[in-house]
Amino acid sequence: MTLSLTTSVKYLKGVGPKRAEALARLGIRTVGDLLYHAPHRYLDATTVTPLARARVGEEVSCVGQVVTTGVLPTRRGLRVFRAVLRDESGLLECAWPGQPFLERQIKQGQVLLVTGPVRYYHGRQLVPREFVVLADEGEARPERGLVLPIYPATEGLTHRQIRTLIHQHLDALLGLAVDPHPPRLRAAVGIPDLRAALAAVHRPRDPDDAEAGRRRLAFDELFDQQLVQARARHLAKRARAGIEFTLKKELTTRLKEHLPFALTDDQRRAVREIAGDMTAPLRMHRLLMGDVGTGKTVVALFAMLLAVENDYQAAIMAPTELLAEQHGATLARLLEPLELRPELLIGRLTPAEKRAARERIGHGAARLVVGTHALIQEAVTFHRLGLAVVDEQHRFGVEQRAALVEKGDAPDVLLLTATPIPRSLALTLYGDLDVTELRERPPGRGSVKTALRGDAARKKIYAFIRSECAAGRQAYVIYPVIDESERADLKAATTMAEDLREVFAEFRVGLVHGRLKAEERDATMRAFRDNAVQILVATSVIEVGIDVANATVMLIEHAERFGLAQLHQLRGRVGRGAAASHCILLSNVPSAAARLKAFTETTDGFKIAELDLQERGMGELAGARQSGGVPLRYANFATDLPLLEAARRAAAEIIARDPALVRPEHAAYRERIVARYERGFELFRVG
Ligand code: ADP
Ligand code: MG
Repeated sequence: MTLSLTTSVKYLKGVGPKRAEALARLGIRTVGDLLYHAPHRYLDATTVTPLARARVGEEVSCVGQVVTTGVLPTRRGLRVFRAVLRDESGLLECAWPGQPFLERQIKQGQVLLVTGPVRYYHGRQLVPREFVVLADEGEARPERGLVLPIYPATEGLTHRQIRTLIHQHLDALLGLAVDPHPPRLRAAVGIPDLRAALAAVHRPRDPDDAEAGRRRLAFDELFDQQLVQARARHLAKRARAGIEFTLKKELTTRLKEHLPFALTDDQRRAVREIAGDMTAPLRMHRLLMGDVGTGKTVVALFAMLLAVENDYQAAIMAPTELLAEQHGATLARLLEPLELRPELLIGRLTPAEKRAARERIGHGAARLVVGTHALIQEAVTFHRLGLAVVDEQHRFGVEQRAALVEKGDAPDVLLLTATPIPRSLALTLYGDLDVTELRERPPGRGSVKTALRGDAARKKIYAFIRSECAAGRQAYVIYPVIDESERADLKAATTMAEDLREVFAEFRVGLVHGRLKAEERDATMRAFRDNAVQILVATSVIEVGIDVANATVMLIEHAERFGLAQLHQLRGRVGRGAAASHCILLSNVPSAAARLKAFTETTDGFKIAELDLQERGMGELAGARQSGGVPLRYANFATDLPLLEAARRAAAEIIARDPALVRPEHAAYRERIVARYERGFELFRVG
């Protein structure tokens, strides 16, 4: 058969059913997937040091054949695995303290690449930070260069096996790659031709070569993403005629007069920008981005009142009942002097209450509506929806946000998010949105002190929690359940709650996690809000929005298992009242200490967002997902912002000339997007 990029990998030589299964676990199903399975890093041994010349105090990379191995105990009882390597220049001992299990992996006769510092211990000794088995006994050493690609691997398939498989077929696979970009574009961006790039990624001559290849693949995925966005923007613009509200300065002015606080400068600017959009003939499509506690709700309320004083309705949708209730209460309080009452529509209402609420919404008696997903149910119709606000917008799917918007006739749209990202990136990721930032915090909030502690401090921490609770305050204890399907994690959180019930027998301890029924979870959260529960053990489900001003302590167990942005979201749950608050990160993982320490030293959400991005790359961002459901694999925010901008420019230019990508020279672009992006088909449907 003839090979094509869509041929199943199982037809490749060296791939049996078992291996095909393991490859599928890595997302590799076709020959093309294998070709695009890029190494996640490289070991650079272009400058290997001959064993005899490795000097004490230096960092070296060496290659040698294993002559002998053994495990020796030290005087302090630590078991050390040792292997002596040989090359043409001589011998060198390597030692792996505390890793006796390596005896099963490293065998006599193998060729090893080791990198690490050389120390003096009864002679020169290399302590590898990293090692790679280049070849087993009797096997030929890899002939190509010494920049060694390390591939993402999986159970039953080592990175070495993947490397062998890819290299075995690489030349044939490269023959299938066709570059969709014209040479002019490649030259303008400064990227190599596709085939050269893929070759460089898999068998680089040197580290620069590998990086040039990666940049090309990164450009391509950013470019695809930007094409999708440019297209979405193009379609949105065409359909962007909206309501032209007028600034009547009735309700909005009265709200300003009756607010119990003065708006911050940022809030005032945000209100101005939003009013500018709403009074313009085009539809508003704006994202209001501000850290927890920066006061987004009141800004949204101004926008809602602007719609209401123009005889339209305004709605705000929140991701949980509790948040919706909280918004309902806040709005009710702020609107009381204006003699307005928000309508609350949530699942918890009785059927009769729901019916009544729906009726008032349908007739227009309800002018400001607050709710959950209940708002987007079919039975709900608005009399005249002029503004749709979505709180914690990343918690909703694209369709859910669209469903709310479709309850009106081209209403203005305001999205709120507490997940800040750097502005340049926001503009690129949320390509079809205008962005407003709130950076300033309202005054009069207590500060949050953050500390990093080890397990040894647990007793002291408990004593501190006890003293806070005895003084009438409340505490969160957060436990990581990264993936709700991780049973063991959930069990640990549950056990934790049980333990704490014993430790803090004099207080009520509650437990919430993602596996609980929504009603059960909400009941516990309400009890916590009302101080009927003093200590709340929770998984990260409490991340969103809940505002309990009386909670002053947050203890985060296994802090190393959370991303920095997530830690920041969690920390935002305390420090919401006037009292000084404390966030304690508990972690015993030395390798995580530096990043956690950095986190304790700043409370600036935008700064943390940048650190977080550098850590994870931008692929995992909610925004990246939002822009089409395809995570980024090759691009890296820390280094690729210029590339992103180049991709954005190139994509915008192409969509301006050929909006639906119907020209023959754009067929390859279209094909790739339609295949890879969920919305690709819909966006580039012709006719
Ligand atoms: P978030 O941006 O996290 O949604 P909220 O809108 O819930 O923040 O506001 C948090 C708290 O700050 C609320 O209790 C709100 O009443 C209060 N707040 C908002 N703006 C100001 C301000 N300018 N001055 C003082 N308090 C404010
Ligand atoms: Mg909020």
